[in-house]
Amino acid sequence: MYQSFIGLEVHIHLLTKTKVFCGCRSAFGDEPNTNVCPVCMGYPGVLPSLNIEAMRMGGMVARALNCRIPPRTWFERKQYFYPDMPKNYQISQFASPLGQEGFFNLEGRGINKRVRIKECHLEEDAGKMIHTGTVSLLDYNRAGVSLLEIVTEPDMETGEEAELFIQQFRRMVRYLGVCDGNMEEGSLRADANVSINLPGKGLGRKVEIKNLNSSRFVRLALNYEIVRQGERLDQGKAVIQETRLWNENRDQTEPMRTKENAQDYRYFPEPDLPVFEPDESFLASVDEALVELPIPRMRRFETDFGLSPEQADLICEEKAQADYFEAALAEAVRRGMESRDAAGRICNWLLTDIKHILGREGLSPRDLSSFTLGPQRLAALVALSAQGEVSLKNAREAVEVVLTEDKDPETIIRERGWARIADPEKIARTVDSVYAAETAVFGEVRSAHTEGNIKRANTLTAYLVGKVLAATGGRADPGIVRSQVEALIAKTA
Ligand code: ADP
Ligand code: ZN
Ligand code: MG
Repeated sequence: MYQSFIGLEVHIHLLTKTKVFCGCRSAFGDEPNTNVCPVCMGYPGVLPSLNIEAMRMGGMVARALNCRIPPRTWFERKQYFYPDMPKNYQISQFASPLGQEGFFNLEGRGINKRVRIKECHLEEDAGKMIHTGTVSLLDYNRAGVSLLEIVTEPDMETGEEAELFIQQFRRMVRYLGVCDGNMEEGSLRADANVSINLPGKGLGRKVEIKNLNSSRFVRLALNYEIVRQGERLDQGKAVIQETRLWNENRDQTEPMRTKENAQDYRYFPEPDLPVFEPDESFLASVDEALVELPIPRMRRFETDFGLSPEQADLICEEKAQADYFEAALAEAVRRGMESRDAAGRICNWLLTDIKHILGREGLSPRDLSSFTLGPQRLAALVALSAQGEVSLKNAREAVEVVLTEDKDPETIIRERGWARIADPEKIARTVDSVYAAETAVFGEVRSAHTEGNIKRANTLTAYLVGKVLAATGGRADPGIVRSQVEALIAKTA
């Protein structure tokens, strides 16, 4: 058996409105080459200027990854030629990146591991090449878009761990609001590095798998590589240090280029950008923008509100949903509900009925922040049904009416006459009409009692109570109905 080592390089597009060194719009899917200017096109003599918003978002990720933000951080030019990079160099960070030496705790699916973060650095993205038959087209809209690269130490061992890292990291940056995490559109991309070696021998010779655009591919490609490299070593062959690509049609990695020696990018400090010295106000603006992160939030939902780990995980998958949950819970408690009871009920609503409705309407949990059935309205329904003021069936119907008529549940319940009937005289009238229709059954209950057949008497009583409830559309107070039915049985005995 071999020991395996996996390190990830994750790139995220920051959600800055403009690019990192110029004022061009930063957006996905615009008409090609419309968001370009002399700066991002690398014309001679132009001056880049740093987008402080990109720096702030990068600082937030650095903090969330427990990285140290150094007193001085700067940019370097990384020289290489590629058609999608009009300047022939990329402005990146090398010697003193924005975030240094942090860690990320992987938790879940039986995995519990601290992954050290080597660094996170800010850089500009390259443009996009579109190959169409005989020609290749270039879209420079992406050239200069703010990109944050996160580099882990080789602390992971399996494809499953790397997959979980990507998923949890993705959720974290979405919580922070610094990246939309859309892997299909390339807002989050990963390169995976993997090597194997005999136990105790330390790192092996690494292979880099480039441009993985789904967390599943990260898992599949790494597990494939671990097996492939093991087979080579078993055969007495060395692993070639190279860059490979994942072929999703063949479910295998394939060589792209060999990488015998580290490429010489001739890094040197970018002369057109001053050294950045994070001051008090910058660091304060980073800290102010931070939010409670998904894992601690999940743990809090478990310990404070009694959710199971699975429930907490599902609720916290989207920040908008976790926010909705907490807002609904606060309102339910304000309405006198016990907090764990309310939490369990709200959680069930979210994970069943509301999930179903969102799916039906073509919405996602993200849309809960502007959903017509807001947390206050859900809390009202949860409280009213828990307190027996409205039946569960009517509560469900009220949800649909809220969505179509945009009214508060109380109004709907009043308008439709769905409120619980607790007036004994009103209930007595219904009991009388059921008696008229089911006199024979009342007779049977009596004989069952005389015969001492308690079981049969109970079954028939339940049947009669059910008849009365049904006659009121499930709205009569079941306790009052039962005592009236029982009284009537006793009286006619
Ligand atoms: P390079 O200089 O080739 O870019 P780095 O040292 O910058 O290599 O590391 C890049 C990524 O590769 C990091 O995520 C790191 O953890 C990982 N890595 C480095 N060496 C190995 C190795 N021998 N096996 C597995 N992963 C490695
Ligand atoms: Zn520009
Ligand atoms: Mg590197």
